[in-house]
Amino acid sequence: MKILEYPNSLKKSSKEKCNLKSFSVKEINSFIENLGLPSFRANQLVHWIYERMALSINDITEFPKELRNKLNEIAYISNIKIIKKLVSVDGTTKFLFELEDGILIESVLIPDDDRLTLCVSSQVGCAVGCKFCLTGKGGFKRNLEAHEIVDQVIAVNRYLKDKKITNIVFMGMGEPLLNLDNVVEALWRLTELIGISKRKITVSTSGIVPNILLFQKKAPEVNLAISLNAPTDEIRNKIMPINKKYPIETLINVCKKYPLKPGRKLTFEYVMIDGINDSLKDAKELVKILKGIRCNLNLIPYNPYPGNTFKRPSDEKILAFQKMLFHKNRRAIIRESRGQDILAACGQLQASN
Ligand code: SAH
Ligand code: SF4
Repeated sequence: MKILEYPNSLKKSSKEKCNLKSFSVKEINSFIENLGLPSFRANQLVHWIYERMALSINDITEFPKELRNKLNEIAYISNIKIIKKLVSVDGTTKFLFELEDGILIESVLIPDDDRLTLCVSSQVGCAVGCKFCLTGKGGFKRNLEAHEIVDQVIAVNRYLKDKKITNIVFMGMGEPLLNLDNVVEALWRLTELIGISKRKITVSTSGIVPNILLFQKKAPEVNLAISLNAPTDEIRNKIMPINKKYPIETLINVCKKYPLKPGRKLTFEYVMIDGINDSLKDAKELVKILKGIRCNLNLIPYNPYPGNTFKRPSDEKILAFQKMLFHKNRRAIIRESRGQDILAACGQLQASN
């Protein structure tokens, strides 16, 4: 990233201005230093962008007018735009955002008792192509920059006014571990600059094996969820093509090596699809492969969307599956996705206008 020097490289065209939100804290410090300004200005800038949620340089009233004018000539603060908002009968709200290049992404706000969880996107589309997921169906467009991930949270916090997002799940569009650097930088800003606890953030992956331990090193203490979705390679190959590259055994082995702090657990997600992975035999196999791993297990009944032939199993089948797990000493929670009426549930995000 190019750091502007002042005054020689003063930019006039708005297109050439630099986006202060795209800078890391280190880059903000160099930017301020290169302008010959005292370092406390960098702290103020960070504070105004991430805590005060300034929409523009003019909002930074702590800066003298002349400084704001100077900065306006060479820099700006980007903001993702809320294009549309859909509210579900259950209170879940889906936001459609427009990025600077006109691309659309979605986030979902899920209110629950005293929690406000935001499900954020990490990529535009997804290359993994799971057969049960609408995001995967549309293919991959591009990675989100760290600031585009963080801006989903800032925009919703602004919308919430007095309240603030308390929890974040990376379960929107995209595969976070295929955009690791930007996701890690976004996690750093969310925790260190916005103040959301690491324990209240969960990143979900389809199982990009080489990046799992790397993720733990770069973002320790952030929760990791693995979308397992099948107990055998035979079934998983059919619904998650990524399994051919990283089969269950390699995935489970890396999970066994995952360093967990005392009291912490991995999470496994299991999307239940009628007639595909919901038999009692599958439940028994699942218990076997998870043996010895400290983990939570979430059963997510498949959420249908137009154009897909998969079905959600009957409630009886889901409960029988859960009971079999329980019988084998493996507790599992059935997680009903929220916001299904507005296509805001897991796997239903596509970002169309
Ligand atoms: N790419 C990541 C995170 C986004 S998907 C991942 O796959 O983990 C978030 C979760 O939604 C995953 O657990 C995925 O298995 C689940 N999911 C995808 N499509 C779904 C659908 N149609 N119904 C229910 N869950 C779905
Ligand atoms: Fe991508 Fe996750 Fe959807 Fe699979 S389930 S296609 S990894 S977003």
